[in-house]
Parts: sequence; structure tokens; C-alpha cells
Amino acid sequence: MKIRLAAPLQSDSIVDGEGIRTVIWTQGCGHHCKGCHNPETWSFEDGYLVDVKYIIEEIDNISGQDGITLSGGDPLYQVDACLEIAKHCKERNLNVWCYTGFLFEELLKDDKYLELLKYIDVLVDGPFILSQRSLDLKFKGSENQRVIDVPNSLKEEKIVLVSKYIDKKEYNIKKKTSVYI
Ligand code: SF4
Repeated sequence: MKIRLAAPLQSDSIVDGEGIRTVIWTQGCGHHCKGCHNPETWSFEDGYLVDVKYIIEEIDNISGQDGITLSGGDPLYQVDACLEIAKHCKERNLNVWCYTGFLFEELLKDDKYLELLKYIDVLVDGPFILSQRSLDLKFKGSENQRVIDVPNSLKEEKIVLVSKYIDKKEYNIKKKTSVYI
């Protein structure tokens, strides 16, 4: 199986999730958010194809990482490849973060996405909305996006946010607008 990447794996990142992480920059995104920081990753033909096996080998050869982050682009356009990588990382006790422009609620409706969610620890979901952009937010770009604790959300059958990354103002807005399922 192959995966289309926008760039080589990046190890030792401290800005793409908690701890020290290896980031997998996938190529391809259909959300086309206004103000996207990475529009060169939108095309589904640019970038380059790599064997998932090679990515897994690379991950195994990098030491001192807390986990991996699937980013892009939107990794969920390559759900099968991401599933293989995420499964392998969980077997190696690496935690898995994933960024997507889709909403968690949308992913629950599709069995393939649901299978992948079982191997993801934290999902940062939703499109980037320029009018809600804030530099004060941790691990996300706009206030509508959510840093979701996936295992607990699946267990409790409602969205559980990672509490330490909830901005207080944002939390009150979200409570009022009932984004929780
Ligand atoms: S989902 Fe992310 S990569 Fe895709 S257009 Fe929006 S901000 Fe850009």
C-alpha cells in the first residue's frame, strides 16, 4: 500500500500535538479552507507516493518520540494507509494524533473512519475558519476546531474534549451552542 506525502517525515516536533512527535505530512485536501497555511498540500496529484512499509520502517528507526501526528493536507483522504500506520504505532506504544478538516460526527457515519478512530488518541477536527483564527489556541488554528479525546468520546458516545486544551472563553461558547453530541 502507498501513501501520498507532501514532505518527508519530520521528527522532534513540539507544535503538532503534545510531547515530542514525528509528523507525517500527507498530500491532498478537499476542504480548501480560506486562509489555509498549507495550500500547496491541496492537490491530490502533487507530492510523491511512498510505500507505507517504508514509513513504518522510518518510524521504527526514530527514537525519543512520544507519538506520531497525521497531518497534511488532510490525512483522512488516505484512510487505509493511515490505518496501517496508526495500528503499527499503537503496537509500539506511540500515541497517535490526527488533524482533519472533517468533523468527528461525520467520521462516525463511515465504518472505515470509525475503524481508524479506534487507533487515534487525539483528533483535532473541523475546517480552519479564518474569522475564528486565534494565535492563543493550543494545537489548533481557529476556535471552531476541537481537540478531541477519541478513546473517551467513543466510550462515552459523546464528544469529550481534552480538558487542558480548552480555552475558557471557547468552552463557554461551545456549551451555549451545544456542539457536544
Ligand atoms: S483542512 Fe487543513 S490543510 Fe485542508 S484546507 Fe483546511 S486548513 Fe488547509
